[in-house]
Amino acid sequence: MSKVLKFGGTSVGSAGNMRMVADIVVAEGAAVTVLSAMSGTTNALVDIAALASTDPGSGKIGGQLDMLVKKYSGCIGELLRDSKQKALTRLDETIKLIRDEAAGYKGPYSERLILAQGELLTSYIFTLYMNERGHKAQLLNAPDLIHKDGEEKVDMDFLESRLKGLIGDKDTFYITQGFICTDHRGEMDNLGRGGSDYSAALIGGAINASQVQVWTDIDGMHNNDPRFVENTYPIPRMSFDEAAELAYFGAKILHPATIQPCKDRGIPVFLKNTMDPQAEGTMISEQEDNSRTFHAVAAKDGITVIRIYSARMLMAYGFLRKVFEIFEQHRTPIDMITTSEVAVSLTIDSDCHLDAIVEDLKDLGKIEIEKNNTIVCLVGNLEHQQRGLAETIMRGINGVPLKMISYGASHRSIAMLVETRHKKEVLQSLNDSLFSAGC
Ligand code: ASP
Ligand code: MG
Repeated sequence: MSKVLKFGGTSVGSAGNMRMVADIVVAEGAAVTVLSAMSGTTNALVDIAALASTDPGSGKIGGQLDMLVKKYSGCIGELLRDSKQKALTRLDETIKLIRDEAAGYKGPYSERLILAQGELLTSYIFTLYMNERGHKAQLLNAPDLIHKDGEEKVDMDFLESRLKGLIGDKDTFYITQGFICTDHRGEMDNLGRGGSDYSAALIGGAINASQVQVWTDIDGMHNNDPRFVENTYPIPRMSFDEAAELAYFGAKILHPATIQPCKDRGIPVFLKNTMDPQAEGTMISEQEDNSRTFHAVAAKDGITVIRIYSARMLMAYGFLRKVFEIFEQHRTPIDMITTSEVAVSLTIDSDCHLDAIVEDLKDLGKIEIEKNNTIVCLVGNLEHQQRGLAETIMRGINGVPLKMISYGASHRSIAMLVETRHKKEVLQSLNDSLFSAGC
């Protein structure tokens, strides 16, 4: 029974919360514990790096550093006794490193080094605390374990063999950082914002854990977004595929890449609430829940539609390949796609290469761009032979103008594109019509 537990920024966001985390780690007998940075840290570090890239002498950098010193020294003061001085020294060193790196900013490398400091410091403090409580705890350096290749792929064999040699002792609590890793040049890198979940899943996969637990400040994956919708509820069980769709399409509780390493090895993922450990939370596993038609809704903002009108598409083959190749060249994934005989509409969630993509697409036809859209993804047991299913869903959106629909790709989900200004309305009306009625 080897469990990997991951705690998010709020879970380790104060001395009081870190104590609760320690209780949970001990009660669960965690083999490996993966920690995010204390809440607010990574945002502050992102700001520092952004300021440093334009104006390394900016006074605002000092302001952010002061905020971090206050936050961490407050936590250390409250949490630690014998090892307080050790932690304060480490805090000083960390602040100095960030200040120096910002002053002599060297582009992306400096940014990644600065961003890594939150997880490094938080995990260091927590390990000292576990030791002070009388537990055997050992800090592992995640960048020594998680290595990415030039294609951003994590070397699972390396991770597996490294961990084998490192985590042998059953009585030791191994603590490590989420989010950070080493790139193919051997330099500090990360797995993207919110990537600590992915770190935990990779480690869980590598040690063939019995389960991966992702601890946040909400009682599991909800059927709809509680930030925008009233009367949501946690879903006790969901399948890997559903969780992957929901995470990808905006359910903030889980990083979208998390599912794969666990799905590959059949390792269940539990979403739990640090503030209410007794709450059931959500179990994500191979098991599918067929008791209800509609399981959950998620929404993803910042979506751009690209419409390509081309008479050359008419009865031609190979047209879509040319379109896809352009997106591939610009390393931009496509989320939704709909086609007619003379037009293709696609959506993307990253505008980084939009201008270059449009330039290339112009050779294929007339291009239109629409920004500020939201994909609303509904997952459930959407068997197509059910009479009236599409009608029920369309009624559920209650007249909100739909820009695109993707239905039929799987019997697990339907994706709908609306203007972002209609998001709240569509989420609430789907909740009222499809979920309160016990469908
Ligand atoms: N600290 C990082 C972030 O805020 C990674 C994480 O929390 O998962 O994005
Ligand atoms: Mg997170």
